[in-house]
Amino acid sequence: MTPTPFHPALIVVDIQEDFLPPNGSLAVPNGLDIIPPVNALLELPFRLKVATKDNHPPTHISFCTSHAPPHNVPFSSTYTLVNPRNPEEKIQSRLWPQHCVQGTKGWEFPESLEVGRLDEMVLKGSDEKVEQYSGFAGPFRGAEAESSGEIGDAPDETELRRILVEGGVTHVYVVGLALDYCVKATALHAVERGFKTYVIREGTRAVDAAAVEEVYKELEEKGVGVISSDSEEVEWVKQLEK
Ligand SMILES: [Zn+2]
Repeated sequence: MTPTPFHPALIVVDIQEDFLPPNGSLAVPNGLDIIPPVNALLELPFRLKVATKDNHPPTHISFCTSHAPPHNVPFSSTYTLVNPRNPEEKIQSRLWPQHCVQGTKGWEFPESLEVGRLDEMVLKGSDEKVEQYSGFAGPFRGAEAESSGEIGDAPDETELRRILVEGGVTHVYVVGLALDYCVKATALHAVERGFKTYVIREGTRAVDAAAVEEVYKELEEKGVGVISSDSEEVEWVKQLEK
């Protein structure tokens, strides 16, 4: 039975040329497989369909080219990411090849994606000094959010939460690239912000295919539903037409 209230949104994470074979600089294996199922989901009557776009300056901190050897090996080297607003707050993050640089071919949506069906687009990763996997916010809580306990008011919060809240959204369905980084981070932030959240298996692929089941387990443990395109939860969206 469809829950009430039920106002679902589809979030399409970072389906951009650089994350896609054959030419993407950070191509996710089998990433093109997700385009037909994502296009099919874009045809459903979600209340809102929002895409995120990785939107880096050419000198972004996550690029191997922004770091000195020998600790600048893409996919394997890590570096310490420091919160520019709170130097005490640090996390280890991974280095990547240059990707999704603002305005380049790799930054674009693929022509095969039905972008005309999107309602909104949210840019992320624009701050040179901060890595941002999630479409909602950077990885730091922010001193203000930490002290007030408020999630969703971090200084680096994007427009995504506001768009969903103003749209009256209750349920969030996440697809896109890549499962083990930006899809996972976006889904976990959606749960933290109070949305009932699902990740659709057919609509995502991982950088590390061997990690897929582990990622799904972690998502489920943290309150994200892992579902398939023919699940009851997607059926609820289809029923909205009737
Ligand atoms: Zn990136």
